[in-house]
Amino acid sequence: MNDTFRHKGLRQQLVNVLKNKGIADSAVLNAIGDIPRHLFMDSGFLDHAYQDKAFPIAADQTISQPYTVAFQTELLQVKKGSKILEIGTGSGYQTAVLCALGAKVYSIERQQELFKKTSKFLPKLGYRAKKLIFGDGYKGLPEEAPFDGVIVTAGAPFVPKPLLAQLAIGGRLVIPVGNDVQVMTLFIRKGPKEFEQHEFGEFRFVPLLEDKN
Ligand code: SAH
Repeated sequence: MNDTFRHKGLRQQLVNVLKNKGIADSAVLNAIGDIPRHLFMDSGFLDHAYQDKAFPIAADQTISQPYTVAFQTELLQVKKGSKILEIGTGSGYQTAVLCALGAKVYSIERQQELFKKTSKFLPKLGYRAKKLIFGDGYKGLPEEAPFDGVIVTAGAPFVPKPLLAQLAIGGRLVIPVGNDVQVMTLFIRKGPKEFEQHEFGEFRFVPLLEDKN
């Protein structure tokens, strides 16, 4: 697959844009500097791949804006070996960022088309998630819980209880909450029933959809 010096140069410019917008975690910036985002997008959008913008992918979904990916990943505080659950695999770009940080990644996608495409594509690029799952993210993944981190990459009308329940003590849930506009929200599990909650700025995501059945 084609990753040229031009792409690498554009990626470095993107990293500088993210730094200027306040992203400080060097591991996150390095991951974004390494991952060929243009390969996660349909070819018609190649020239836009390194602008700090969201873009359409298959099944009426979007690849999140790089700033949003960086912001959410920074809030997760991923360490090597952290067990992370992602809701909304989509293009797999966020999944690749988590893999690049050394996380053990479980990721759930409810659109079969995207699930199939991304399951084939990610290993080709060398990003190996522990498990990609076709299913409903509202339920989380109880059989693999607890998680050090859970990241939701679609706008959630409310906070699904199973996602809080599946956090380890000390674990972090990063979730954009709201309907038309979402408030980026961080929950930190302090004890079996204690959660600390922090709110950050407003973001716009495609909706986290409830099960079709
Ligand atoms: N992380 C992705 C973002 C894709 S957009 C990326 O970087 O490309 C959000 C994704 O969430 C879409 O692919 C959408 O199909 C998926 N999604 C929506 N509701 C879901 C649900 N209930 N469970 C799992 N995935 C869901």
